[in-house]
Amino acid sequence: MLSAEQHRLSSHLDQHLNEARRRALKAGLRWYWVINLIAILFLLTRFYIFRDAHLLLVNVLPWSYEWQLITMACVCLLLPMGWLWLSRQPHAVWQPSLWVCGLCWGMAWASVGYTISIVDLKGGFNLIFNMVSLLLLTGLIASYCDVRLFYTLAAAPLSFLLARASWSPEQFVMLNFIVVGVLLIVLETGRRMLNNWFELAVSREHENLVLARKLDAMASRDPLTGLANRRHFDQICKSAIAQGTTLETPLTVILLDVDFFKRYNDHYGHQAGDECLILVAECLEESARESGDLVARYGGEEFVVLLQDTDLAGGERVAERIRHTLAARALPHKGSEVAPHLTLSQGIAQWRQGESLVMLLERVDGALYQAKGEGRNCYRLAA
Ligand code: GH3
Ligand code: MG
Ligand code: MG
Repeated sequence: MLSAEQHRLSSHLDQHLNEARRRALKAGLRWYWVINLIAILFLLTRFYIFRDAHLLLVNVLPWSYEWQLITMACVCLLLPMGWLWLSRQPHAVWQPSLWVCGLCWGMAWASVGYTISIVDLKGGFNLIFNMVSLLLLTGLIASYCDVRLFYTLAAAPLSFLLARASWSPEQFVMLNFIVVGVLLIVLETGRRMLNNWFELAVSREHENLVLARKLDAMASRDPLTGLANRRHFDQICKSAIAQGTTLETPLTVILLDVDFFKRYNDHYGHQAGDECLILVAECLEESARESGDLVARYGGEEFVVLLQDTDLAGGERVAERIRHTLAARALPHKGSEVAPHLTLSQGIAQWRQGESLVMLLERVDGALYQAKGEGRNCYRLAA
């Protein structure tokens, strides 16, 4: 039985595989389109040369040969527009439409093959076999990652080759069957091999992506409290300052420091000190808004709260809320000189237009220093 996490990962991989398949098909079919256009132009040129040299069996559908190829060339030239429409469709429409197109295109080639085989004076089967196998091989390279597309594309030409092999007027009919059979084996084994490489490459890419996301998340989190770390805070605060510069919205920062934390560690032990920091983190998150505010561990027993779209008065309200939330938890702190329970000192500063992050932090640090100096368990506003 797969766990929920494994299900989630495998559905992510499927999604990634579908996207990669779409990208690979896009590149492959573009190339296949060029090859088809060249093949059609070659056959058309060849038709006129052969006709002028009287190498065709006259009066047996010669118009069909020419017009079929001209129609296919026109359709081919219009395909990019169809592709443009198709690429904007959702997966459920995009893929089946591609299969239908593949089937129609394969049928068009099969009918061209049929016409060539009856129009050409001699060597019809050989030319058609070579042409069709070449097109099937290019089709395989273009669509190896979508088994259904490849076989819808190949179904009609392969059926035609098999039928043509059986009505061949030449001797050694069996040999024709063997040749078509070998072609089929070459196509299927080649397709599997290419598809396996493709899936392996995509799953590796997916693993790397998951790993990179994990590393990215780890690089922005504080492992003890689960809060954002200072690096992440700096990034967000810088972009908030940039936004504040253009939108002229207020921005306030609160810097907090646990009072007499060294004594807490000394009295209750380092492990209890860690738990205490986790509790402070919870209180801060409880007191901040879910959106717009960012709570981060600034370092050691210092925390920082970024309040977007908030002025100094709003910052004071949050600071009060934090003080009350922590007081309600009433975590005993025997070493504290200001209260029987754990307390925080806070500095609050509102960002000013033109001020950098460093300048803002210097001001808020000054306010915190003032709160410490003026008795702790309080907040002070930056000048
Ligand atoms: P003040 O009231 O002036 O802020 O005094 P304080 O004791 O809180 O400040 P001080 O800077 O003297 O001590 C901070 C202590 O925080 C020292 C350090 O061992 C402890 N500390 C820093 N990070 C951690 C941590 O992750 N876990 C624990 N348990 N202790 C930590
Ligand atoms: Mg400190
Ligand atoms: Mg402290």
